[in-house]
Amino acid sequence: MSPVYQIAIDGPAASGKSTTARGVAQALGIRYLDTGAMYRAFMLRLLEAGADYGREEGVAPWLEQHGISLDWDEEGTQRVYLSGEDVSGKIRENRISTTMGPVCAMPSVRETMVRLQRRIGSEGSCVIDGRDIGTVVFPDALFKFFLVASSRERARRRQLELEERGQAADLEQLVRELEERDRRDRERSAGPLRQAEDARLLDTGGLTIRQQIQAIVDVVRERLRAEET
Ligand code: C5P
Repeated sequence: MSPVYQIAIDGPAASGKSTTARGVAQALGIRYLDTGAMYRAFMLRLLEAGADYGREEGVAPWLEQHGISLDWDEEGTQRVYLSGEDVSGKIRENRISTTMGPVCAMPSVRETMVRLQRRIGSEGSCVIDGRDIGTVVFPDALFKFFLVASSRERARRRQLELEERGQAADLEQLVRELEERDRRDRERSAGPLRQAEDARLLDTGGLTIRQQIQAIVDVVRERLRAEET
């Protein structure tokens, strides 16, 4: 058995990736790396700096000094910092979700984030979620999963998530926003959202979170056990 292994979980927005990834990491006693949070933090940096984020040249100066760092609390929850400030809550605001698409499509931004993700993700076994983890960031990951669910189902989940944070959101608008983000994620040329050929497809539509977690944990445990014997 390889001492360090990665579990890549990709899929469209609000497909249940992060909740599932967190649960899998907890069940296996390994770290959860949320790559979307890193792109979100970078977008927040650009917004707060008043950067000209519509153009790659406007973003370039901030790549060198992105100031992003991560750590994990005792429960394994990832915290995201920008120049030392904990921005884990702020990065979830809808203004970030709706403006970050073009920035995430910039090759220079992806290069910087992928480098950072590879470094952090190689430090120990971990579950990593995103859009391009199984295809670009860790193409040799021992485990790869691709989560899908209908856009309405995903919008309903995102609505609940926002409501829990005290932010009201219209369901139809969320459906439109999610579909627009998926389109952008799929159509960009750098690191597009795509199922890796060797990834297992998991439709989370009819599954509870607990079932999603269990489905992945079962596959991982079975394989690790087989490699041990
Ligand atoms: O997963 P989450 O919704 O937090 O991701 C926020 C945005 O970051 C996504 O819409 C996607 O465009 C971008 N992203 C990305 N590559 C990743 C993870 C997220 O482009 N690996």
